[in-house]
Amino acid sequence: MSLIKTPQEIEKLHRGGELLSNTLREIRRACVAGASTAALDKIARDRFAAAGGTPSFLGYRIGERGPAFPGAVCISINDEVVHGLPIPDRTILAGDVVGLDIGVWVEGLATDMATTVIVGETDPSVKNLVADTRESLVRGLAVIRAGKFVNDIGAAIEDYLTESGRSKKYGIVKDLVGHGVGHAVHEEPQIPNYRDPRLPKIKLQTGMVIAIEPMVTLGTWRVRVKDDGWTIVTDDGSMAAHFEVTVAVTDDGYDLITPWPDELAS
Ligand code: MG
Repeated sequence: MSLIKTPQEIEKLHRGGELLSNTLREIRRACVAGASTAALDKIARDRFAAAGGTPSFLGYRIGERGPAFPGAVCISINDEVVHGLPIPDRTILAGDVVGLDIGVWVEGLATDMATTVIVGETDPSVKNLVADTRESLVRGLAVIRAGKFVNDIGAAIEDYLTESGRSKKYGIVKDLVGHGVGHAVHEEPQIPNYRDPRLPKIKLQTGMVIAIEPMVTLGTWRVRVKDDGWTIVTDDGSMAAHFEVTVAVTDDGYDLITPWPDELAS
């Protein structure tokens, strides 16, 4: 399993990324007060099936004995950071902050992306959290090119989120990180969203395919897993936001494999 993808593989990844992005755009639109999380999940299952894609999260296990993930989309509401369950008795409510994270296999290659939707009205602090989490991803992407180091990405994300003058100090989740993707759902290297002095100096190379995914909270960086074995929540109950794209590293920047679903919508 190579961390470097061939140009042919990157072409295939683009086809998967396009499907993933179009699907996430449709789920964003359907993510309104009263929608059941199972109905949002069904959009992904149906669209993937129609296009010949396979949901990569459905049935996924962390370790050998963990519970299998029950859906195609992770739907994480309010203090849920990631890996929330798309199940029939969960309904989206007005004011919810909803993280939508999906992954798909197309032509033997995996792509991964996420967005966060504010349903209706919410506090300015929550709006800022969502906007700043998205922008931190943009800042992290901006430093990517062959020859840079994995740690440069986390440093750029951290620097943006800890800029002076912010009214609120954010928590940057540390237990979950970005990652290589393509031949597997999660590959090396791990890509923290902060400066990690322990991280080996890994150089970005042309053809590396990576998923960058800042997870940010209005409180602590500490998280825990709920009893369902999947849902990751903030330790202090504070709101969280999450954005993710898959990109391929190039000589002078990056190639966006999963187009932003919100930009496409506008
Ligand atoms: Mg991911």
